Amino acid sequence: MTLSAARRINCKCIDYPTDETARIFNIQRYSLNDGQGIRTVIFFKGCPHRCPWCANPESISGSIETVRREKKCLHRAVCLNDVDECPSGALARIGRDVTLDGLEKEALKDDIFFRSSSGGVTLSGGEVLMQAEFATRFLARLRRLGINTAIETAGDASAARLLPLARQCDDVLFDLKIMDEKQSKEVLHINLPRVLKNMRLLVANGIHVIPRIPLIPGYTMTRENMCRVLDVLAPLAIDELHLLPFHPYGEPKYSLLDRPWQMKGIPAPDESDIAPLRLMAESAGYRIKVGG
Ligand code: SF4
Repeated sequence: MTLSAARRINCKCIDYPTDETARIFNIQRYSLNDGQGIRTVIFFKGCPHRCPWCANPESISGSIETVRREKKCLHRAVCLNDVDECPSGALARIGRDVTLDGLEKEALKDDIFFRSSSGGVTLSGGEVLMQAEFATRFLARLRRLGINTAIETAGDASAARLLPLARQCDDVLFDLKIMDEKQSKEVLHINLPRVLKNMRLLVANGIHVIPRIPLIPGYTMTRENMCRVLDVLAPLAIDELHLLPFHPYGEPKYSLLDRPWQMKGIPAPDESDIAPLRLMAESAGYRIKVGG
């Protein structure tokens, strides 16, 4: 496939080399979050959204990036500026391309943990829908091997991309963020009506959806936003919600990438901030997990 064809398919001008190959930036093993049991979470690179609170800013660009960790740098007079030649590891590449076979092999290293804990593999990001064709084929392989599968997504893509992928999932961890249509568009570049339509579509197709609501001071952490979430969910067959409180742990990565951290000085909410919103959701009959 030519580069221009890849760009057209992925819509967002990301230079993914082919649709036989995915671009990822991390594989996190032994995770107790993002699905049931012990999980291997694969983080896909590239995201069309711009959440000011994003904890993974290295996920946003679909390109492979190079960063310099100043503390590790030997400050040699002549720096070749080449990751492979850097003797101290100060230069690092963020992102790599993987094939279906290669990624399956990497995931299966943890098979024993999946079997012993009813765990499995979660595809996260970034936004996995930007590489939906690869992800669908990959999860189909895992399912044939009896491995539990999940994705985490903002759900903002055509149904033609989302539904086949969701059909390969035991759980779809479906983010609901800013519930005001205009603000969602302006701040997150998210088409909220499409997201909500997609969520209804998945539930109508019998797919197990777990909505996740990031609790972000100044954006989503209001009674009004939670009311809107609960209104949307009320007619749907959904029994569990995840609340994801804001944390600033991603901040150092912003300076590494030379990007502004828009949440500067905003502390993580404490239990007393979270409790009223949790109570609202519990009172509406949902099983709540804080953290995900
Ligand atoms: S959708 Fe997720 S990965 Fe994308 S910017 Fe928002 S928090 Fe970050």
